[in-house]
Amino acid sequence: MPFPLGHTAIGLAAYNTIQTSSHGSSRWKALAFIVVLANLPDIDVIAGLVLNANGNLYHRGPTHSLIFAIVAGYLAAHAWRLGPFIPRLRFSLCFLIIFSHVLADMVFTASPVSLLWPFEVYWSIGSSGWGSVIHSVIFSSLQDVGILLGSIAYIYVLLMVRKWLPDLRVPALARRRIR
Ligand SMILES: [Zn+2]
Repeated sequence: MPFPLGHTAIGLAAYNTIQTSSHGSSRWKALAFIVVLANLPDIDVIAGLVLNANGNLYHRGPTHSLIFAIVAGYLAAHAWRLGPFIPRLRFSLCFLIIFSHVLADMVFTASPVSLLWPFEVYWSIGSSGWGSVIHSVIFSSLQDVGILLGSIAYIYVLLMVRKWLPDLRVPALARRRIR
């Protein structure tokens, strides 16, 4: 299953799919923001840990839905107003990076996500405390090497195609100027 490393790699692939030029803010700031957005749906693990010492309690509920990706994507696109430390990414980018997490969980794991919440809701079963969650984040992320390599290969091919075929800007969203 994708862990933070895998989700970050997929989020970067999603970002590169519709972002064709570098934007004004620094690359590191953008990268840090992408890491946060790509892993944002798993904030439900932290909520479960803080409130009940069980990371599985609220996992894969409302934060793993289309609605969450839309609302959080909208808020993230306006988060730059909070201070200069937050880069300015447009809504379509923020939405896609967050939604890539939900899709990756759907595709790479057997347990369901609450894609159409509030019309459907699934919760992760079992129990995992602070120790096992931290252990998973650090060590199980190594299992994401395949996803990481796949994402790097995808981004590389994307950049090469754009370099050799400059007129081929897929998709059309990418033609819009970056704010
Ligand atoms: Zn997740």
